[in-house]
Amino acid sequence: MSEAKKDAAYIRRAVELADLNAVKLAMFHITRDEAFAALPVGPKMDADQKAWLIDKTAAWLEQNAGPADLAEPEEADLRRMMDMVTGIPNGEMEFNLRRDLTGFKEFPYMVDWTNGKPEIPEGFKVAVIGSGFAGIGTGVQLDNLGIPYTVYERRADPGGVWNINRYPDVRVDTISITYEFLFERDHEWSEYFGRGAEVREYLRKVSKKRGVFDKTRFEHDLKQATWDEARNVWKLEFETPNGILKEEANAIISCAGLFATPKVVEWEGQENFKGEIVHTALWNDDIDLKGKKIATIGQGSTGIQMLGALSREGSEVTVFQRTAQWMMPREKYGEAMEPEVQWLVHNLPGYWNWWRYSATSGLFETHGLMQVDPEWQAKGGIVSEANDQIRKDLTAYMTYQLGGRQDLIDKVMPDYAPFSRRPIVDNGWYKALTNDNVELVTTQIKRLVPEGVETVDGKVYEADVFVTATGFDVVKYLWPAQYTGKDGVDLHQKWDEGDGPRAYVGMMHPGFPNLWTLYGPNSQPVSGGPAQPVWFAIWCGYATQCIIKMLETGHAQVDVKQDAYDRYNAELDAEAHKLISMNEVGGVGKNYYVNTEHMRLQVNSPFYSPYYHKLCSKPVWDELEITGDLKVPEAAE
Ligand code: NAP
Repeated sequence: MSEAKKDAAYIRRAVELADLNAVKLAMFHITRDEAFAALPVGPKMDADQKAWLIDKTAAWLEQNAGPADLAEPEEADLRRMMDMVTGIPNGEMEFNLRRDLTGFKEFPYMVDWTNGKPEIPEGFKVAVIGSGFAGIGTGVQLDNLGIPYTVYERRADPGGVWNINRYPDVRVDTISITYEFLFERDHEWSEYFGRGAEVREYLRKVSKKRGVFDKTRFEHDLKQATWDEARNVWKLEFETPNGILKEEANAIISCAGLFATPKVVEWEGQENFKGEIVHTALWNDDIDLKGKKIATIGQGSTGIQMLGALSREGSEVTVFQRTAQWMMPREKYGEAMEPEVQWLVHNLPGYWNWWRYSATSGLFETHGLMQVDPEWQAKGGIVSEANDQIRKDLTAYMTYQLGGRQDLIDKVMPDYAPFSRRPIVDNGWYKALTNDNVELVTTQIKRLVPEGVETVDGKVYEADVFVTATGFDVVKYLWPAQYTGKDGVDLHQKWDEGDGPRAYVGMMHPGFPNLWTLYGPNSQPVSGGPAQPVWFAIWCGYATQCIIKMLETGHAQVDVKQDAYDRYNAELDAEAHKLISMNEVGGVGKNYYVNTEHMRLQVNSPFYSPYYHKLCSKPVWDELEITGDLKVPEAAE
């Protein structure tokens, strides 16, 4: 199919629909015409400047459109172009985190041997646990290096949480071109924000195409991992349809993820409820909501995303709210990606690269939003000038969406600051509340009764189905697999006896050599920057550098030193206390980020993202212990 032959009107439409900031960068990159560089940052372009850019680009495309890969510019040039996207210069740390976001390299963020591939002892193997985004990306990284590995996946298919989550209207809430592998860029997303099924298919496609699928053992649920100190191997036990399987591996990269174990609430009286109780993460296609009376609880991203669909399907929907949420609109959310834009991605060289950089850049400057400005507070402000402004903007949005209905506004207005929880994209939730068949209840649930849900004031709301969007048990890291490290120490027990799950750079655990937990404790970046798939690649690169070190130096163990772990966690705690999530204005404890028992941040990395990237992308070898002679493990009994 010749993609290039489109008429002038089609081409013009493609450019008009595009991200003009990215168009500007692509055209500058191709032509080096300083007139493009002289244009202001996208949103600041006036109508004449936009028209000029569209004319110039359309004219260029009429002559030259066609697929072509642009080479990564020389570093000084690349820095200049990256700065042109936002108009804010990238410092050294920022540049190091963001340069690969442009995706000019074949395998951005991935790591390589320092001096060619060494001989790998026969029998050496890495066990990758889980085949979601992280597990598949890790498989590709290890495959590129020729390091033997097996992926073990408890479910029958790849996809991780995208395989689990099948509730109505599930989709990503960051634009799909940023929510994909940087080495797999030719996917034609049908919508700007891909639906769950499409993300699932994308992951399956990548897994198959890159050979990870063939190295994945599905329906292998890790139950036990035990470090064999004498032989420097992890002994693994999996539950499989054929019984318990025992395996061994020199190293484990756990990609089991944060969102793996649904938080299924035990409701008082649930045994008496005559209807069906469904958790969103246990959804199946047989669930029929047509014409049913639906009760629903949970206003995280899931519950918010789903309400519109529930109200279209059900005859009546009662929404129970425990904690109100701040919600924001997102441009093109739920919209199909126009064929013109898909064409542009393939036919304007550099557009894909600069679009994904430009789309991500909107999140670069969010760290300050999560911190209190005492000077601003002294002048009567709530958090900081920027955060208070967002509060005003979101309040105006909420008011508009609810048609000014004060009864609803009073109920949905959060009593804590925006950005102290994960920001939520409004998928028509506010609008759905104004539907005649939807009722919002803020009185708390007491119990379930045969005919529905009873609140603490004794009122009963009839329901045929109770849809619970209560999320995941996020702090059950690695659960239910039991990890036993040196001296028989159980990792979960160690965490329980301390103040909950902790790690070094989110991935390493002293006394548990050759184990890296991707998306482990305190690793979810709290502030803006790359979308999650990029972080998986960064973390995987860290773990792989440690494995490379073992293989290149002939050592059998990499462990983190206890004092490095302690120092890292002390710094992390100090940083965490600067965040509004841990502060009264952020409604401390009103989110799963905070462990209220020990009053500490438990899920997020509190660091400024470029600094966090520095910590978790390159091992500091002095903080690690690299010991033992690398030998081939003897065969398991
Ligand atoms: P979540 O964010 O943990 O939200 C759970 C909701 O259930 C909260 O409203 C919570 O109320 C409520 N809840 C929990 N236990 C309850 C109880 N015992 N009684 C009453 N209410 C209870 O879970 P989620 O929405 O499933 O999201 C999980 C993660 O996936 C999040 O990080 C989310 O951002 C992500 N996600 C992303 C997308 C996307 O578009 N990319 C879509 C879905 C989910 P409280 O607030 O009072 O605790």
